[in-house]
Amino acid sequence: MAIIACPECGKEVSDKAADCPHCGFEMKPRIVHFLTLGESLTLFCICLVGLLLMYLFR
Ligand SMILES: [Zn+2]
Repeated sequence: MAIIACPECGKEVSDKAADCPHCGFEMKPRIVHFLTLGESLTLFCICLVGLLLMYLFR
């Protein structure tokens, strides 16, 4: 178990905690959101390259 700083209030929170006991900030959905954002960016890049190739080779 490690102690990390809450991204919302900066206080010490266990990395096992689902939310910050000081301000109630949800820790785990942020990680899920980050992964979703990364996947969205990857998907966006693939679409962009696809559109570019369609434009170049039409
Ligand atoms: Zn907090």
